[in-house]
Amino acid sequence: LQPKIASREVTMHILKAFGLRMSKKLGQNFLIDARIVQGIVDAAEVKPGDRVLEIGPGIGTLTQGLAEAGADVTAVELDKKLPAVLKETLKAYDNVRIVPGDILKVNIPEIMGEAPFKVAANLPYYITTPILMALLERHLPITHMVTMVQKEVAERMTAKPGSRIYGALSVAVQYYTEPEIVLDVPPRSFIPAPEVMSVVVSCRVRKEPAVAVRDEKLFFRVVKAAFGQRRKTLMNALKGGGFQKEAVRDALEQSGIDPTRRGETLTLEEFGRLADAFSVQEN
Ligand code: SAM
Repeated sequence: LQPKIASREVTMHILKAFGLRMSKKLGQNFLIDARIVQGIVDAAEVKPGDRVLEIGPGIGTLTQGLAEAGADVTAVELDKKLPAVLKETLKAYDNVRIVPGDILKVNIPEIMGEAPFKVAANLPYYITTPILMALLERHLPITHMVTMVQKEVAERMTAKPGSRIYGALSVAVQYYTEPEIVLDVPPRSFIPAPEVMSVVVSCRVRKEPAVAVRDEKLFFRVVKAAFGQRRKTLMNALKGGGFQKEAVRDALEQSGIDPTRRGETLTLEEFGRLADAFSVQEN
C-alpha cells in the first residue's frame, strides 16, 4: 500500500526532499486531507478505466486518489519543477501521464482524443473562471467535471436569476451543466491554508444545453452584454454592449421581455428567447 500524499507529514516530507517552495503566483495550495481527496474521487464517480483529465496535479495528491480508483489519468501541470517530482511521487502507478504545460494553451483534443472523459481538479484560484469557461465553451467530450473552487465562485456558478451574484458565469455553467456543491472545505485542509473557504462543485455536463438556441455565439454575446453593465436596464445594457437601438427594441418586443428589466433577472430560457429574436433579425 502506498502512503497517501494527502497528509501534512507526507506533503512536508516531499516539499523538503525536493527543496520545493510553493508558488503563490501559480495558486499552489496543496491538499493535505485524504477525506477531501476521496470526496472528489467519489463525487466524480471514478471507475476503473475512466479517462480523467486533471488540471494542476501539484505533487500528485489528487492524482494519487484518481490513480488508486483505477482511472486513466492525464494531468497537465504548468510548474516546470513538478514533472520530475511527480515522476517520483507517482512512480507506483502506470495509469498516470503527466503533460507539462498551461491548461489554457494545451491542445486538449490532441492530448485527450475524442472519447468521453471526466475532469477532476483542485483548481488554481487565480484562473478558475477562464479555465471553467475554456472547458465548457470548446465542446469537448467531457461528461462530468468535479472541481475545487473558492466558495464565492461556486456560489456564482450555482446562483439563480434575481440574485445579486447571478451573472455570465452562472448562465454559462448552467447552460452546459448541472452544478451542485458537494463538499465544504476549510482552509486547514491545504498547505499553505488559503485565505478563503473552498468547496467542491460537481458539474454534470448535460447531453443537450439547458435551452435550445439558434446561435450559441450570439446567445453568449447577449448574456455578456446584459451583465456587462448589470445596473442598467436591459435596453441600455444591450445598447452599451454593441447592439443597435432599434434591433434591441424589436428583439425585446418580439421575445416579450420588459425592456426595463435588468439582465440579472432573466432566466436561461428568457436569454435564449431574446438571443433567438436577435438571430431572426440577423438572418
Ligand atoms: N492537485 C494538487 C492538490 O490538490 O494538492 C495541487 C492543486 S494547486 C491548488 C493548483 C495546481 O495548478 C498547482 O500545482 C499549480 O502549479 C497548477 N497550475 C497553476 N496554473 C496552471 C495552469 N495554467 N495550467 C496547469 N496547471 C496550473
